[in-house]
Amino acid sequence: MQCKLIKNDKKRCKAIVLKGGEFCYYHSPKNRDDRVAASSRGGENSKKNNVKLTPVKISNPEDVLKIVSETINLLRSGKVHPNYANSIFIGCNTFFKSYEKSLNYRMEKKFPGISLIDIG
Ligand SMILES: [Zn+2]
Repeated sequence: MQCKLIKNDKKRCKAIVLKGGEFCYYHSPKNRDDRVAASSRGGENSKKNNVKLTPVKISNPEDVLKIVSETINLLRSGKVHPNYANSIFIGCNTFFKSYEKSLNYRMEKKFPGISLIDIG
């Protein structure tokens, strides 16, 4: 059976009704509260992307370790979205790799033929 809801454009919803009901899953009054709660939770989650973190000067690995530690704690306390934290971790990883390449480059210039051990 077709859902009884008439939409804003005056057309009837074409979805099939829930068993024993008059409306589809989306329009069933029984599911309305669940949908509103889920929608609200989605809104809360997206707000976690808007954590205002102040810019920090990054000049050595110690600075990056502080950022990693802060981000882990923000993530654990649910104050930052995992996607946002992941971007920060990727940035930190990129810093470490670039830093290592830079050290190797400077060592190679000073002591030709010698390079630092590749830490991965
Ligand atoms: Zn419907």
